[in-house]
Amino acid sequence: MIMIISGAGLSAESGIRTFRDHDGLWEDYDVMQVCSTQGWEADRELVTQFYNARRQDLKDKNPNPAHYTLAELEKSYQLYNLTQNVDNLLEKAGCKEVIHLHGTLTDLRCEACGHVWNVDYDAQNENDVCPACQSDYIRHNVVMFGEAAPMYQKIYEAIDACNIFIAIGTSGQVIDIVPIASAFKHSILINPKREEYVTSFTEEIPASQTALACLGSFAKYIDEYFSYFIQKNAGEAMDELLGIIKELQ
Ligand SMILES: [Zn+2]
Repeated sequence: MIMIISGAGLSAESGIRTFRDHDGLWEDYDVMQVCSTQGWEADRELVTQFYNARRQDLKDKNPNPAHYTLAELEKSYQLYNLTQNVDNLLEKAGCKEVIHLHGTLTDLRCEACGHVWNVDYDAQNENDVCPACQSDYIRHNVVMFGEAAPMYQKIYEAIDACNIFIAIGTSGQVIDIVPIASAFKHSILINPKREEYVTSFTEEIPASQTALACLGSFAKYIDEYFSYFIQKNAGEAMDELLGIIKELQ
């Protein structure tokens, strides 16, 4: 069984922008204002507008070769297909079982009863209510800084169940992938550049700066903890990835 954790780098080639891009959508907003529980409590309307805009932005985005390769992989192997991405591009590529660690952009959630429902790319409007309990206490379905991420328990399940670990397009700043890689005999990292290994995510430093150097000393590059490192963009790395998986099985 294969454990996959993907991050922003998986969807970057599809044009999904993140707070790490300097020309990204997030530049118009303060990240902590729109992605933290404090920001949400302070101005729910602003945060709702932000997620409405991101949902709209997602509408014309398409999966790239990496998404399609993972969908193909799902047909031949049992996967724990975990992603930090909130887009729906893995599903659009044909993946049947995707575990969204940080929630989903195309759903809304009721804060009164917990019901989650699909809205595709529609905006959340002032008058919307929960289809299950009619409460108007509803929100986007994306995990914010400062709140629990219940799907993280799947990470531990996957570590126990799988014998190969693949990290795609994530530098481990939110989910520390090094201890995960260390639990596997076979681990594969796909990332276009070598990145300094940062041991913990620090909220005090605005994520928009992603100032790795500010986070203190580092001993190694993150790829040094993996048994394979494919230094390519996700889409370009797939042939090599499939070759390694065949070799290992
Ligand atoms: Zn409800």
